[in-house]
Amino acid sequence: MKVYEGKSIFKGIAIGKIFFYQKGTQQVKRVKINDVEAEKKRYEAANAKAIEQLEALHAKAVKEVGEANAAVFEVHMMMLEDDDYVSSIRNMIETQQVNAEFAIASTGDNFSEMFSQMDDEYFKARAADVKDISDRLIAVLSQRESVGDMGEEPVIVVADDLAPSETVQMDKEKLLAFVTRYGSANSHTAILARTMNIPALIGVEIEEEWNGHMAIVDGKNAKLYIDPDEETLEKLRTEQQKDIEARELLSLLKGKEDVTADGKHIKLYANIAGVADVANVLANDAAGIGLFRSEFLYLEAQDYPDEETQFLAYKRVAENMAGRKVVVRTLDIGADKQVDYFNLDKEENPAMGYRAIRICLDRPKIFKTQLRALIRASAYGEIAIMYPMIISVEEVRKIKEIVEEVKTELTKQGIAYGSFEQGIMIETPAAVVMSDELAKEVDFFSIGTNDLTQYTLAMDRQNMKLDSMYDPHHPAILRMIQKTIENGHKEGCWVGICGELGADTTLTETFLKMGVDELSVSPSFVLPIRKIIRETSVQE
Ligand code: PEP
Ligand code: MG
Repeated sequence: MKVYEGKSIFKGIAIGKIFFYQKGTQQVKRVKINDVEAEKKRYEAANAKAIEQLEALHAKAVKEVGEANAAVFEVHMMMLEDDDYVSSIRNMIETQQVNAEFAIASTGDNFSEMFSQMDDEYFKARAADVKDISDRLIAVLSQRESVGDMGEEPVIVVADDLAPSETVQMDKEKLLAFVTRYGSANSHTAILARTMNIPALIGVEIEEEWNGHMAIVDGKNAKLYIDPDEETLEKLRTEQQKDIEARELLSLLKGKEDVTADGKHIKLYANIAGVADVANVLANDAAGIGLFRSEFLYLEAQDYPDEETQFLAYKRVAENMAGRKVVVRTLDIGADKQVDYFNLDKEENPAMGYRAIRICLDRPKIFKTQLRALIRASAYGEIAIMYPMIISVEEVRKIKEIVEEVKTELTKQGIAYGSFEQGIMIETPAAVVMSDELAKEVDFFSIGTNDLTQYTLAMDRQNMKLDSMYDPHHPAILRMIQKTIENGHKEGCWVGICGELGADTTLTETFLKMGVDELSVSPSFVLPIRKIIRETSVQE
């Protein structure tokens, strides 16, 4: 047995086999081959395997994200069989007597370059698809695993690092835990682990040879056991059982009101990344959704999700929540959440760059599509719309103008919509300072402590070296929260916290005494926070 230490993201315990995920594009070497026919057969077998994988992914995606979003896998299957693509690879193997990997990589590069030069946006976006299918073929040939290929048994995924787009693609039913070498506690991948209720460790010196070995992730003590002995297994199984029992005890709080001991009602909501998380919200009895990170709809897709796809997703969430509030945050892409088809330039300082509302105001077509979908969904439930990364009153006025345009268009077209609240994220120091003015423009504020901390302390939330110094309890942050609540209340706004700090149980009492109206947390934190709310008096 070997024991490793890391930093814990979620305090559960997971026991199972390791799946070592090696990502990234492998350097493909040019190798001269003697047997052209055998090489062509290798390629054909890999092609058949890739199509099999895509068929399975397609079936899974139809179930999880609907037919429209799943269509991309059909496009990939068609591309794998495209005559030009196939004959280019076969010709290269024949005429240059090179290995299949090299022929595929060169063909992929050439086709992708050709697509990216085209004027038409649709074909431009196909550049990423050709690269994707070529990478898949090469991965099959080199027997490299892909995240979507975790096997039948539930596993502990071990990787150097995971991007939000990779985490979101994983089959949640087969994911017991994840362990990475890199990543930070405040990254979106870490947030996803908490949303999905998955024990996770970062900062672990991982090794490829662990693949297939038995392991235990102990999120409580930030330890990883490889090939645990019987005694350790026994001990941690008991711990795991205790966890389950503690959760069962908390579940007695289901159906109880979120009201303080002295009678103040609090909105205790949950954060989600997609439609699939709603089940977890309901299972934990949250009174609403305080943050739907809508950008994950874009991260899961291979091309801009159209109005209908988005409308169906928002409508489904609103209907499933049956009258409980659903705060959908508009697209917050950029920084660590990169989407190929947006073709964003590489930036020196992406966290402070072209992201979120800045992209939406600069590319109004994308923004309007999302707004139309959201406003239409307001006819089916209690939708509220929230805008990220706001820094000025002018931005909010511009957004409201666009919203009015969309409403006028919908009315003209005879398309129904309901009433909906509009609010903003308070996650930049500028928004805190301007919160007295901003409060006059909106119905609510939701404080994004993750970004607010990084911008106030000038510390990259993604930088693991800063994890020990990154202090969301810094008095500057707490004062900013207090100020925001006061300024919001003066103008009749309700004020919530949807950053990770909202789930910090050591601060719940402080927030309640500051006058916070709403806390929106990962679903698994709803019941622990409900317990504290019900035990706290705010008047003292
Ligand atoms: C935040 O910044 O606190 C927040 C909730 O948004 P995100 O974590 O998605 O940036
Ligand atoms: Mg943020």
